[in-house]
Amino acid sequence: MAKKKSFTTAFGAPVADDQNSLTAGRRGPLLMQDTHLLEKLAHFDRERIPERVVHAKGAGAHGYFEVTADVTRWTKAKFLNTVGKRTEVFARFSTVGGEKGSADAERDPRGFALKFYTEDGNYDLVGNNTPVFFIRDPLKFPDFIHTQKRNPATNCKDPDMFWDFLSLTPESLHQVTILFSDRGTPATLRNMNGYSSHTYKWYNDAGEIFWVQYHFKTDQGIRNLTRQEALALRGADPDHATRDLFRTIAAGNPPSWTLEMQIMPYDEGLKYRYDIMDITKVWPHADVPPIKIGRLVLDRNPVNYFAEVEQAAFNPSNLVPGIGISPDKMLQSRVFSYHDTHLHRLGPNYHLIPVNQARNAPERNYQRDGSMRVDGGGAGPNYWPNSFGGSEPDLAAAEPPFPVEGAAARTSYSHVNDDFEQSGALYAKVMTETDREHLVGNIVEHLGMAQKRIQLRQTALFYKAHPDYGASVAQGLGLDTQEVRQLAGMSQPDRARATAP
Ligand code: NDP
Repeated sequence: MAKKKSFTTAFGAPVADDQNSLTAGRRGPLLMQDTHLLEKLAHFDRERIPERVVHAKGAGAHGYFEVTADVTRWTKAKFLNTVGKRTEVFARFSTVGGEKGSADAERDPRGFALKFYTEDGNYDLVGNNTPVFFIRDPLKFPDFIHTQKRNPATNCKDPDMFWDFLSLTPESLHQVTILFSDRGTPATLRNMNGYSSHTYKWYNDAGEIFWVQYHFKTDQGIRNLTRQEALALRGADPDHATRDLFRTIAAGNPPSWTLEMQIMPYDEGLKYRYDIMDITKVWPHADVPPIKIGRLVLDRNPVNYFAEVEQAAFNPSNLVPGIGISPDKMLQSRVFSYHDTHLHRLGPNYHLIPVNQARNAPERNYQRDGSMRVDGGGAGPNYWPNSFGGSEPDLAAAEPPFPVEGAAARTSYSHVNDDFEQSGALYAKVMTETDREHLVGNIVEHLGMAQKRIQLRQTALFYKAHPDYGASVAQGLGLDTQEVRQLAGMSQPDRARATAP
Protein backbone atom coordinates (compact mmCIF):
# COMPACT_ATOMS: atom_id res chain seq x y z
CA MET A 1 0.00 0.00 0.00
CA ALA A 2 1.31 3.50 -0.89
CA LYS A 3 2.55 5.44 2.11
CA LYS A 4 0.15 8.23 3.09
CA LYS A 5 1.46 11.73 2.29
CA SER A 6 1.29 13.79 5.43
CA PHE A 7 -0.34 17.22 5.26
CA THR A 8 1.95 20.00 6.47
CA THR A 9 2.03 23.73 7.06
CA ALA A 10 3.95 25.85 4.55
CA PHE A 11 6.99 25.29 6.75
CA GLY A 12 6.69 21.53 6.79
CA ALA A 13 5.19 20.88 10.21
CA PRO A 14 2.59 18.09 10.23
CA VAL A 15 -1.04 19.20 10.50
CA ALA A 16 -3.33 17.06 12.65
CA ASP A 17 -6.75 18.49 11.65
CA ASP A 18 -7.75 20.59 8.63
CA GLN A 19 -11.51 20.49 9.21
CA ASN A 20 -12.01 21.97 12.68
CA SER A 21 -10.56 25.33 13.77
CA LEU A 22 -9.13 25.60 17.24
CA THR A 23 -11.75 27.10 19.57
CA ALA A 24 -12.22 27.72 23.25
CA GLY A 25 -14.85 25.18 23.99
CA ARG A 26 -17.22 23.69 21.40
CA ARG A 27 -18.80 27.05 20.59
CA GLY A 28 -15.65 29.14 20.36
CA PRO A 29 -14.48 31.85 19.99
CA LEU A 30 -11.51 31.03 17.78
CA LEU A 31 -8.09 31.00 19.37
CA MET A 32 -5.27 33.17 17.99
CA GLN A 33 -2.94 30.28 18.56
CA ASP A 34 -4.49 28.28 15.71
CA THR A 35 -1.38 28.95 13.63
CA HIS A 36 -2.49 26.61 10.85
CA LEU A 37 -5.75 28.55 10.36
CA LEU A 38 -3.96 31.93 10.46
CA GLU A 39 -1.33 30.79 7.95
CA LYS A 40 -4.00 29.33 5.66
CA LEU A 41 -6.18 32.46 5.65
CA ALA A 42 -3.27 34.88 5.36
CA HIS A 43 -1.92 33.00 2.36
CA PHE A 44 -5.36 32.85 0.76
CA ASP A 45 -5.69 36.63 1.19
CA ARG A 46 -2.59 37.00 -0.96
CA GLU A 47 -3.37 34.41 -3.65
CA ARG A 48 -3.90 36.95 -6.40
CA ILE A 49 -1.13 38.96 -7.97
CA PRO A 50 -1.88 42.01 -10.14
CA GLU A 51 -3.66 40.99 -13.30
CA ARG A 52 -1.80 41.74 -16.50
CA VAL A 53 -3.04 45.15 -17.71
CA VAL A 54 -3.31 43.60 -21.19
CA HIS A 55 -3.34 39.92 -22.23
CA ALA A 56 -4.83 38.91 -18.86
CA LYS A 57 -6.73 35.85 -20.12
CA GLY A 58 -4.36 33.24 -21.48
CA ALA A 59 -3.45 29.60 -21.89
CA GLY A 60 0.01 28.10 -22.17
CA ALA A 61 1.93 24.96 -22.99
CA HIS A 62 5.46 23.61 -23.26
CA GLY A 63 7.06 22.18 -26.35
CA TYR A 64 9.98 22.60 -28.67
CA PHE A 65 11.18 24.37 -31.79
CA GLU A 66 12.97 22.37 -34.47
CA VAL A 67 15.11 23.91 -37.21
CA THR A 68 14.23 22.55 -40.67
CA ALA A 69 16.39 24.72 -42.98
CA ASP A 70 19.86 26.22 -42.94
CA VAL A 71 19.62 29.88 -41.86
CA THR A 72 23.27 30.44 -40.92
CA ARG A 73 23.80 32.85 -43.82
CA TRP A 74 21.35 35.23 -42.10
CA THR A 75 21.81 34.68 -38.38
CA LYS A 76 24.41 33.36 -36.00
CA ALA A 77 21.76 32.53 -33.35
CA LYS A 78 23.04 29.27 -31.90
CA PHE A 79 19.62 27.71 -31.42
CA LEU A 80 19.06 28.08 -35.18
CA ASN A 81 22.50 26.94 -36.35
CA THR A 82 21.86 23.29 -37.28
CA VAL A 83 19.07 21.60 -39.21
CA GLY A 84 17.29 19.21 -36.85
CA LYS A 85 18.31 21.10 -33.68
CA ARG A 86 15.58 21.31 -31.05
CA THR A 87 15.13 24.00 -28.39
CA GLU A 88 12.68 23.86 -25.49
CA VAL A 89 9.86 26.40 -25.75
CA PHE A 90 7.07 27.73 -23.57
CA ALA A 91 4.13 29.38 -25.36
CA ARG A 92 1.32 31.54 -24.02
CA PHE A 93 -1.70 32.57 -26.09
CA SER A 94 -4.13 35.20 -24.87
CA THR A 95 -6.83 37.70 -25.65
CA VAL A 96 -5.81 41.33 -25.13
CA GLY A 97 -8.48 43.59 -23.67
CA GLY A 98 -10.57 41.33 -21.42
CA GLU A 99 -10.02 40.56 -17.78
CA LYS A 100 -8.65 37.25 -16.53
CA GLY A 101 -12.13 35.73 -16.39
CA SER A 102 -13.32 37.03 -19.75
CA ALA A 103 -14.47 34.75 -22.55
CA ASP A 104 -12.06 33.13 -24.99
CA ALA A 105 -14.43 33.83 -27.88
CA GLU A 106 -14.22 37.65 -27.58
CA ARG A 107 -13.35 39.58 -30.72
CA ASP A 108 -9.78 40.61 -30.03
CA PRO A 109 -6.29 40.01 -31.35
CA ARG A 110 -4.71 36.92 -29.77
CA GLY A 111 -1.30 37.17 -28.14
CA PHE A 112 1.21 34.60 -29.43
CA ALA A 113 4.14 34.72 -26.98
CA LEU A 114 7.07 32.31 -27.17
CA LYS A 115 10.03 31.71 -24.88
CA PHE A 116 12.94 29.74 -26.36
CA TYR A 117 15.27 28.35 -23.67
CA THR A 118 18.45 28.57 -25.75
CA GLU A 119 22.07 27.85 -24.84
CA ASP A 120 22.71 31.61 -25.12
CA GLY A 121 19.91 32.50 -22.71
CA ASN A 122 16.20 32.97 -23.19
CA TYR A 123 14.89 34.37 -26.44
CA ASP A 124 11.35 35.75 -26.20
CA LEU A 125 9.18 36.57 -29.19
CA VAL A 126 6.03 38.41 -28.24
CA GLY A 127 3.75 38.26 -31.26
CA ASN A 128 0.07 38.32 -32.13
CA ASN A 129 -2.20 36.37 -34.46
CA THR A 130 -2.27 39.46 -36.69
CA PRO A 131 0.64 40.63 -38.84
CA VAL A 132 -0.02 44.33 -38.10
CA PHE A 133 -1.09 46.54 -35.18
CA PHE A 134 -3.52 49.41 -34.54
CA ILE A 135 -0.98 52.19 -33.97
CA ARG A 136 2.64 52.81 -34.84
CA ASP A 137 3.76 55.20 -32.10
CA PRO A 138 3.98 54.06 -28.47
CA LEU A 139 2.76 57.43 -27.15
CA LYS A 140 -0.68 56.32 -28.31
CA PHE A 141 -0.60 52.91 -26.64
CA PRO A 142 -2.10 53.64 -23.19
CA ASP A 143 -4.88 55.69 -24.83
CA PHE A 144 -5.62 52.96 -27.33
CA ILE A 145 -5.84 50.31 -24.61
CA HIS A 146 -8.08 52.53 -22.45
CA THR A 147 -10.58 52.63 -25.33
CA GLN A 148 -10.74 48.82 -25.39
CA LYS A 149 -11.32 48.62 -21.62
CA ARG A 150 -14.18 49.89 -19.47
CA ASN A 151 -15.68 53.35 -19.38
CA PRO A 152 -14.44 55.01 -16.17
CA ALA A 153 -17.96 56.12 -15.21
CA THR A 154 -20.13 53.16 -16.20
CA ASN A 155 -17.51 50.39 -15.82
CA CYS A 156 -18.92 48.95 -19.05
CA LYS A 157 -17.26 48.38 -22.42
CA ASP A 158 -18.09 51.41 -24.52
CA PRO A 159 -18.53 51.34 -28.33
CA ASP A 160 -18.25 55.15 -28.41
CA MET A 161 -14.81 55.06 -26.81
CA PHE A 162 -13.76 52.14 -28.98
CA TRP A 163 -14.73 53.70 -32.30
CA ASP A 164 -14.09 57.34 -31.40
CA PHE A 165 -10.39 56.64 -30.98
CA LEU A 166 -10.10 54.30 -33.98
CA SER A 167 -11.96 56.67 -36.30
CA LEU A 168 -9.52 59.41 -35.28
CA THR A 169 -6.55 57.07 -35.87
CA PRO A 170 -6.62 56.11 -39.56
CA GLU A 171 -3.47 53.99 -39.30
CA SER A 172 -5.61 51.48 -37.33
CA LEU A 173 -7.69 50.58 -40.38
CA HIS A 174 -5.59 47.65 -41.54
CA GLN A 175 -5.72 45.97 -38.13
CA VAL A 176 -9.42 46.85 -37.70
CA THR A 177 -10.13 45.08 -41.01
CA ILE A 178 -8.35 41.93 -39.83
CA LEU A 179 -9.92 42.12 -36.36
CA PHE A 180 -13.45 42.42 -37.73
CA SER A 181 -12.94 39.63 -40.23
CA ASP A 182 -13.69 36.21 -38.75
CA ARG A 183 -9.96 35.98 -37.90
CA GLY A 184 -10.87 38.23 -34.94
CA THR A 185 -12.60 35.21 -33.39
CA PRO A 186 -10.35 32.16 -34.00
CA ALA A 187 -12.10 28.83 -33.40
CA THR A 188 -9.30 27.64 -31.09
CA LEU A 189 -5.79 28.70 -30.16
CA ARG A 190 -4.50 25.91 -32.42
CA ASN A 191 -6.25 27.23 -35.51
CA MET A 192 -4.54 30.60 -35.79
CA ASN A 193 -1.24 31.88 -37.09
CA GLY A 194 1.28 33.82 -35.04
CA TYR A 195 3.20 36.79 -36.42
CA SER A 196 6.09 38.82 -35.03
CA SER A 197 4.25 41.81 -36.54
CA HIS A 198 7.37 43.89 -35.85
CA THR A 199 10.42 43.86 -38.04
CA TYR A 200 13.43 42.38 -36.25
CA LYS A 201 17.10 42.20 -37.14
CA TRP A 202 19.06 39.06 -37.79
CA TYR A 203 22.85 39.23 -38.16
CA ASN A 204 25.33 36.57 -39.20
CA ASP A 205 28.89 35.66 -38.21
CA ALA A 206 30.27 38.16 -40.73
CA GLY A 207 28.27 40.98 -39.10
CA GLU A 208 25.86 41.35 -42.05
CA ILE A 209 22.42 42.57 -40.95
CA PHE A 210 19.04 41.50 -42.36
CA TRP A 211 15.51 42.67 -41.60
CA VAL A 212 13.11 39.84 -40.80
CA GLN A 213 9.46 39.10 -40.03
CA TYR A 214 8.30 35.84 -38.41
CA HIS A 215 5.15 33.99 -39.53
CA PHE A 216 4.12 30.89 -37.54
CA LYS A 217 1.55 29.24 -39.81
CA THR A 218 -0.80 26.83 -38.09
CA ASP A 219 -0.49 23.22 -39.29
CA GLN A 220 -4.05 22.63 -38.05
CA GLY A 221 -5.41 25.05 -40.65
CA ILE A 222 -7.11 28.40 -40.05
CA ARG A 223 -10.55 27.98 -38.49
CA ASN A 224 -12.65 30.84 -37.25
CA LEU A 225 -15.96 31.42 -35.52
CA THR A 226 -18.73 33.44 -37.07
CA ARG A 227 -20.03 36.19 -34.80
CA GLN A 228 -23.11 34.10 -34.06
CA GLU A 229 -20.98 31.11 -33.05
CA ALA A 230 -18.69 33.33 -30.97
CA LEU A 231 -21.65 34.90 -29.20
CA ALA A 232 -23.08 31.48 -28.32
CA LEU A 233 -19.70 30.17 -27.08
CA ARG A 234 -19.11 33.23 -24.87
CA GLY A 235 -22.16 32.16 -22.91
CA ALA A 236 -21.97 28.38 -23.19
CA ASP A 237 -18.25 27.93 -22.51
CA PRO A 238 -16.20 31.07 -21.79
CA ASP A 239 -13.04 28.94 -21.50
CA HIS A 240 -13.53 26.92 -24.68
CA ALA A 241 -10.11 27.71 -26.20
CA THR A 242 -8.19 27.24 -22.95
CA ARG A 243 -9.85 23.86 -22.46
CA ASP A 244 -9.33 22.87 -26.09
CA LEU A 245 -5.58 23.48 -25.93
CA PHE A 246 -5.19 21.52 -22.69
CA ARG A 247 -7.37 18.61 -23.78
CA THR A 248 -5.76 18.28 -27.19
CA ILE A 249 -2.27 18.11 -25.72
CA ALA A 250 -3.41 15.77 -22.93
CA ALA A 251 -4.91 13.47 -25.58
CA GLY A 252 -1.52 13.21 -27.29
CA ASN A 253 -2.27 15.40 -30.33
CA PRO A 254 0.38 18.11 -30.10
CA PRO A 255 -0.49 21.17 -32.19
CA SER A 256 2.25 22.55 -34.41
CA TRP A 257 3.12 25.59 -36.49
CA THR A 258 5.51 25.99 -39.43
CA LEU A 259 7.81 29.00 -39.09
CA GLU A 260 8.15 30.99 -42.29
CA MET A 261 10.49 33.96 -42.41
CA GLN A 262 10.43 37.03 -44.60
CA ILE A 263 14.02 38.25 -44.91
CA MET A 264 15.33 41.46 -46.51
CA PRO A 265 18.93 42.63 -46.87
CA TYR A 266 19.74 45.71 -44.76
CA ASP A 267 20.01 48.37 -47.51
CA GLU A 268 17.11 47.00 -49.51
CA GLY A 269 14.91 47.19 -46.41
CA LEU A 270 15.68 50.85 -45.86
CA LYS A 271 14.71 51.66 -49.46
CA TYR A 272 11.63 49.41 -49.59
CA ARG A 273 8.38 50.93 -50.88
CA TYR A 274 6.75 50.56 -47.44
CA ASP A 275 8.39 51.73 -44.24
CA ILE A 276 9.50 48.40 -42.75
CA MET A 277 9.48 49.92 -39.26
CA ASP A 278 5.78 50.77 -39.60
CA ILE A 279 3.89 48.00 -37.82
CA THR A 280 0.64 48.87 -39.58
CA LYS A 281 2.10 47.47 -42.83
CA VAL A 282 2.93 43.98 -44.09
CA TRP A 283 5.56 43.04 -46.66
CA PRO A 284 3.52 41.60 -49.55
CA HIS A 285 4.50 37.99 -50.16
CA ALA A 286 5.07 38.64 -53.86
CA ASP A 287 7.86 41.09 -52.90
CA VAL A 288 9.39 39.01 -50.12
CA PRO A 289 8.39 35.35 -50.36
CA PRO A 290 8.30 33.63 -46.95
CA ILE A 291 10.90 30.89 -46.42
CA LYS A 292 10.11 27.82 -44.28
CA ILE A 293 12.75 27.40 -41.60
CA GLY A 294 11.32 25.48 -38.67
CA ARG A 295 8.54 23.91 -36.71
CA LEU A 296 7.01 24.72 -33.33
CA VAL A 297 5.36 21.85 -31.46
CA LEU A 298 3.46 22.11 -28.17
CA ASP A 299 3.34 18.73 -26.48
CA ARG A 300 3.27 19.23 -22.71
CA ASN A 301 0.65 20.85 -20.51
CA PRO A 302 1.50 22.89 -17.44
CA VAL A 303 1.17 21.04 -14.15
CA ASN A 304 0.11 24.18 -12.31
CA TYR A 305 -1.53 27.03 -14.22
CA PHE A 306 -0.51 29.77 -11.79
CA ALA A 307 3.14 28.75 -11.55
CA GLU A 308 3.70 28.23 -15.24
CA VAL A 309 1.17 30.36 -17.15
CA GLU A 310 0.13 33.17 -14.83
CA GLN A 311 3.72 33.79 -13.76
CA ALA A 312 5.18 33.41 -17.25
CA ALA A 313 6.83 36.69 -18.16
CA PHE A 314 7.81 37.34 -21.76
CA ASN A 315 10.02 40.21 -22.66
CA PRO A 316 11.05 41.34 -26.17
CA SER A 317 14.35 42.54 -24.76
CA ASN A 318 15.29 38.89 -24.13
CA LEU A 319 17.42 38.50 -27.25
CA VAL A 320 20.29 36.21 -28.13
CA PRO A 321 23.38 36.95 -30.25
CA GLY A 322 22.29 36.81 -33.90
CA ILE A 323 18.95 38.54 -33.26
CA GLY A 324 18.34 42.21 -32.52
CA ILE A 325 15.52 44.72 -32.41
CA SER A 326 14.75 47.12 -35.23
CA PRO A 327 14.07 50.83 -34.76
CA ASP A 328 10.30 50.17 -35.00
CA LYS A 329 9.10 52.68 -32.38
CA MET A 330 6.46 50.32 -30.99
CA LEU A 331 9.03 47.55 -30.54
CA GLN A 332 11.51 49.92 -28.91
CA SER A 333 8.90 50.91 -26.35
CA ARG A 334 7.90 47.30 -25.68
CA VAL A 335 11.51 46.56 -24.81
CA PHE A 336 11.01 48.93 -21.85
CA SER A 337 7.40 48.22 -21.00
CA TYR A 338 7.33 44.43 -20.69
CA HIS A 339 10.22 44.23 -18.23
CA ASP A 340 8.76 47.16 -16.30
CA THR A 341 5.37 45.40 -16.06
CA HIS A 342 6.95 42.17 -14.80
CA LEU A 343 8.88 44.07 -12.12
CA HIS A 344 5.52 45.44 -10.96
CA ARG A 345 3.60 42.14 -11.17
CA LEU A 346 6.22 39.63 -10.12
CA GLY A 347 9.08 41.54 -8.50
CA PRO A 348 12.75 42.22 -9.22
CA ASN A 349 13.69 38.53 -9.31
CA TYR A 350 10.95 37.33 -11.66
CA HIS A 351 13.67 35.74 -13.79
CA LEU A 352 14.13 33.14 -11.04
CA ILE A 353 10.57 31.80 -11.31
CA PRO A 354 11.18 28.41 -12.95
CA VAL A 355 9.14 29.09 -16.11
CA ASN A 356 11.13 32.29 -16.66
CA GLN A 357 14.54 30.91 -15.78
CA ALA A 358 17.25 30.73 -18.44
CA ARG A 359 17.50 27.01 -17.78
CA ASN A 360 20.06 26.31 -20.50
CA ALA A 361 22.34 29.29 -19.74
CA PRO A 362 22.64 30.01 -16.03
CA GLU A 363 22.61 33.66 -14.97
CA ARG A 364 26.12 35.00 -14.22
CA ASN A 365 26.39 38.69 -13.39
CA TYR A 366 26.80 41.09 -10.48
CA GLN A 367 23.16 41.90 -9.82
CA ARG A 368 22.34 40.94 -6.25
CA ASP A 369 19.58 40.65 -3.69
CA GLY A 370 16.06 42.06 -3.96
CA SER A 371 12.76 40.59 -2.93
CA MET A 372 12.46 36.80 -3.44
CA ARG A 373 16.10 36.18 -4.34
CA VAL A 374 15.54 32.47 -3.91
CA ASP A 375 18.55 30.91 -5.62
CA GLY A 376 21.23 31.41 -3.01
CA GLY A 377 22.03 34.90 -4.25
CA GLY A 378 25.31 34.28 -6.07
CA ALA A 379 28.64 33.61 -4.38
CA GLY A 380 31.95 35.40 -5.07
CA PRO A 381 32.54 39.03 -5.97
CA ASN A 382 29.54 41.31 -6.44
CA TYR A 383 31.27 43.88 -8.66
CA TRP A 384 33.05 44.13 -11.99
CA PRO A 385 35.91 44.47 -12.82
CA ASN A 386 37.32 42.06 -10.26
CA SER A 387 40.43 39.90 -9.98
CA PHE A 388 38.76 36.98 -8.23
CA GLY A 389 37.77 34.93 -11.25
CA GLY A 390 34.27 36.37 -11.70
CA SER A 391 32.35 36.10 -14.97
CA GLU A 392 33.58 38.35 -17.76
CA PRO A 393 31.78 40.21 -20.59
CA ASP A 394 32.22 38.46 -23.93
CA LEU A 395 32.86 40.64 -26.99
CA ALA A 396 31.62 37.83 -29.23
CA ALA A 397 28.10 38.66 -27.99
CA ALA A 398 28.28 42.23 -29.39
CA GLU A 399 25.73 43.28 -31.99
CA PRO A 400 27.29 44.71 -35.16
CA PRO A 401 27.24 48.52 -35.11
CA PHE A 402 24.54 50.19 -37.21
CA PRO A 403 24.26 53.77 -38.42
CA VAL A 404 21.76 56.26 -37.05
CA GLU A 405 21.01 59.61 -38.66
CA GLY A 406 18.90 62.78 -38.53
CA ALA A 407 17.89 65.35 -35.94
CA ALA A 408 16.30 64.35 -32.63
CA ALA A 409 12.67 65.43 -33.04
CA ARG A 410 9.09 64.24 -32.68
CA THR A 411 8.32 63.22 -36.26
CA SER A 412 5.96 60.84 -37.99
CA TYR A 413 7.00 57.84 -40.07
CA SER A 414 9.39 58.60 -42.88
CA HIS A 415 7.82 57.47 -46.12
CA VAL A 416 4.67 56.29 -47.91
CA ASN A 417 2.22 56.52 -45.09
CA ASP A 418 -0.83 55.35 -46.98
CA ASP A 419 -3.05 53.97 -44.25
CA PHE A 420 -5.61 52.52 -46.62
CA GLU A 421 -3.93 50.66 -49.47
CA GLN A 422 -3.14 47.40 -47.68
CA SER A 423 -6.53 47.13 -45.99
CA GLY A 424 -8.10 47.80 -49.40
CA ALA A 425 -5.99 44.98 -50.90
CA LEU A 426 -7.02 42.63 -48.10
CA TYR A 427 -10.68 43.47 -48.65
CA ALA A 428 -10.70 43.36 -52.44
CA LYS A 429 -8.01 40.82 -53.35
CA VAL A 430 -7.56 38.38 -50.47
CA MET A 431 -11.01 38.02 -48.93
CA THR A 432 -13.68 35.86 -50.50
CA GLU A 433 -17.22 37.11 -51.01
CA THR A 434 -18.22 35.29 -47.78
CA ASP A 435 -15.27 36.83 -45.86
CA ARG A 436 -16.41 40.30 -46.96
CA GLU A 437 -20.01 39.61 -46.02
CA HIS A 438 -18.97 38.46 -42.55
CA LEU A 439 -16.55 41.40 -42.16
CA VAL A 440 -19.23 43.95 -42.96
CA GLY A 441 -21.79 42.18 -40.74
CA ASN A 442 -19.33 42.04 -37.83
CA ILE A 443 -18.53 45.74 -38.20
CA VAL A 444 -22.15 46.81 -38.55
CA GLU A 445 -23.14 44.95 -35.41
CA HIS A 446 -20.42 46.60 -33.29
CA LEU A 447 -20.11 50.06 -34.86
CA GLY A 448 -23.90 50.28 -34.89
CA MET A 449 -23.74 50.67 -31.10
CA ALA A 450 -21.68 53.89 -31.38
CA GLN A 451 -23.05 57.40 -31.93
CA LYS A 452 -24.02 58.17 -35.51
CA ARG A 453 -21.39 60.89 -35.98
CA ILE A 454 -18.70 58.35 -35.00
CA GLN A 455 -20.23 55.74 -37.34
CA LEU A 456 -19.94 58.27 -40.16
CA ARG A 457 -16.32 59.12 -39.44
CA GLN A 458 -15.29 55.44 -39.23
CA THR A 459 -17.26 54.46 -42.32
CA ALA A 460 -15.47 57.20 -44.26
CA LEU A 461 -12.21 55.37 -43.44
CA PHE A 462 -13.62 52.09 -44.77
CA TYR A 463 -14.63 54.01 -47.88
CA LYS A 464 -11.08 55.27 -48.32
CA ALA A 465 -9.76 51.69 -48.14
CA HIS A 466 -12.21 50.60 -50.83
CA PRO A 467 -15.41 52.30 -52.05
CA ASP A 468 -17.31 49.01 -51.97
CA TYR A 469 -16.14 48.38 -48.37
CA GLY A 470 -17.35 51.83 -47.24
CA ALA A 471 -20.60 51.60 -49.20
CA SER A 472 -21.42 48.15 -47.77
CA VAL A 473 -20.83 49.29 -44.17
CA ALA A 474 -22.82 52.50 -44.83
CA GLN A 475 -25.69 50.48 -46.20
CA GLY A 476 -25.62 48.09 -43.24
CA LEU A 477 -25.71 51.00 -40.82
CA GLY A 478 -28.36 52.89 -42.77
CA LEU A 479 -25.99 55.84 -43.35
CA ASP A 480 -26.20 58.24 -46.28
CA THR A 481 -23.50 56.98 -48.70
CA GLN A 482 -23.20 60.47 -50.19
CA GLU A 483 -22.34 61.88 -46.76
CA VAL A 484 -19.78 59.10 -46.20
CA ARG A 485 -18.18 59.74 -49.59
CA GLN A 486 -17.96 63.45 -48.83
CA LEU A 487 -16.31 62.81 -45.45
CA ALA A 488 -13.90 60.37 -47.06
CA GLY A 489 -12.72 63.16 -49.36
CA MET A 490 -11.77 65.38 -46.41
CA SER A 491 -8.49 65.43 -44.53
CA GLN A 492 -8.53 63.70 -41.16
CA PRO A 493 -8.66 66.91 -39.04
CA ASP A 494 -11.53 68.26 -41.20
CA ARG A 495 -13.32 64.93 -40.87
CA ALA A 496 -12.95 65.10 -37.08
CA ARG A 497 -14.21 68.69 -37.02
CA ALA A 498 -17.13 67.86 -39.31
CA THR A 499 -18.31 65.11 -36.98
CA ALA A 500 -17.56 66.82 -33.64
CA PRO A 501 -20.58 66.94 -31.32
P1 NDP B 1 -1.01 37.19 -50.36
O1 NDP B 1 -2.22 36.80 -51.16
O2 NDP B 1 0.32 36.69 -50.78
O3 NDP B 1 -1.22 36.78 -48.84
C1 NDP B 1 -2.42 37.03 -48.24
C2 NDP B 1 -2.30 36.65 -46.79
O4 NDP B 1 -3.51 37.03 -46.18
C3 NDP B 1 -2.08 35.20 -46.51
O5 NDP B 1 -0.99 35.10 -45.63
C4 NDP B 1 -3.36 34.75 -45.78
O6 NDP B 1 -3.05 33.95 -44.70
C5 NDP B 1 -3.85 36.07 -45.24
N1 NDP B 1 -5.29 36.17 -45.05
C6 NDP B 1 -6.30 35.56 -45.69
N2 NDP B 1 -7.47 35.96 -45.20
C7 NDP B 1 -7.21 36.85 -44.23
C8 NDP B 1 -7.99 37.61 -43.34
N3 NDP B 1 -9.31 37.54 -43.35
N4 NDP B 1 -7.39 38.44 -42.48
C9 NDP B 1 -6.05 38.52 -42.47
N5 NDP B 1 -5.24 37.83 -43.27
C10 NDP B 1 -5.82 37.01 -44.14
O7 NDP B 1 -1.08 38.77 -50.31
P2 NDP B 1 -0.04 39.89 -49.86
O8 NDP B 1 1.15 39.36 -49.17
O9 NDP B 1 0.16 40.78 -51.03
O10 NDP B 1 -0.94 40.67 -48.81
C11 NDP B 1 -2.23 41.14 -49.13
C12 NDP B 1 -2.94 41.44 -47.86
O11 NDP B 1 -3.05 40.23 -47.11
C13 NDP B 1 -2.16 42.40 -46.95
O12 NDP B 1 -2.43 43.73 -47.22
C14 NDP B 1 -2.59 41.97 -45.59
O13 NDP B 1 -3.77 42.67 -45.25
C15 NDP B 1 -2.91 40.50 -45.70
N6 NDP B 1 -1.85 39.67 -45.11
C16 NDP B 1 -0.57 39.73 -45.58
C17 NDP B 1 0.43 39.10 -44.91
C18 NDP B 1 1.84 39.28 -45.32
O14 NDP B 1 2.73 39.07 -44.51
N7 NDP B 1 2.13 39.66 -46.57
C19 NDP B 1 0.16 38.26 -43.73
C20 NDP B 1 -1.24 38.18 -43.40
C21 NDP B 1 -2.17 38.91 -44.04
P3 NDP B 1 -3.16 32.33 -44.78
O15 NDP B 1 -2.15 31.90 -45.75
O16 NDP B 1 -2.84 31.90 -43.41
O17 NDP B 1 -4.56 32.05 -45.17
